[in-house]
Amino acid sequence: MRIIIMGPPGVGKGTEAELLVKHYQIPHISTGNIFRELFTHEDSEIGKIAKSYIDRGELVPDDITNQIVCQRLSESDVQKGFLFDGYPRNIEQAKALDRFLEEKNWKLDAVINLTAKTDLIIRRLSGRRVCEHCGAVYHVENKKPKIDGICNQCGGKLIQREDDLEKTVKRRLRIYTEQTKPVVGYYEQSGSIIHVDGGRSINDTHHDIMKVLGE
Ligand code: ADP
Ligand code: ZN
Repeated sequence: MRIIIMGPPGVGKGTEAELLVKHYQIPHISTGNIFRELFTHEDSEIGKIAKSYIDRGELVPDDITNQIVCQRLSESDVQKGFLFDGYPRNIEQAKALDRFLEEKNWKLDAVINLTAKTDLIIRRLSGRRVCEHCGAVYHVENKKPKIDGICNQCGGKLIQREDDLEKTVKRRLRIYTEQTKPVVGYYEQSGSIIHVDGGRSINDTHHDIMKVLGE
């Protein structure tokens, strides 16, 4: 199964992606997670460059992003399929991905576009907390940890991402509208996109996605 999950920041892509990769037993390729990994756990040059863009709410340059994806696609676990979360984020990246897939003679099975209203997105992002150690995602109202401020999975401390601060959220939403929304149109042309309401609960949305995937 080769899937892309798209949608504005805060729509629940990452959470829904986790449920899908568990179901299909495929690797979860989140470019945002890869970048965060590079600057939190590894002292990498690329990580430092990426962080400077991410903290401002801007997109990491395409050459860096595409290179990271290309490398990831050369690892052996993607043979059984994959799920992209947060990539492609603009038309250039969508074209690069087409080239990567073509080289391998692979076709996408589904592009899922999660939708939600702007006020809901802002509420979700401002309540989002992440484990500073393992990156697990929580929400102060919708997905509380068992112990306040502590990760269920690893006991790490839950923090607010720098780019979830209000002023940065507005910029990310603007960049989404300007650069990522056109990618929805790109996949609409090839007829492969499925729209799912991401404004409901985690489980309801998951069931809707499974239904449209024919499960
Ligand atoms: P969200 O979907 O909530 O914005 P992500 O973890 O997907 O969170 O992305 C966080 C940040 O990482 C983005 O705002 C951007 O700076 C950077 N990033 C992630 N994926 C890409 C990408 N495909 N191209 C460029 N920048 C990216
Ligand atoms: Zn954790």
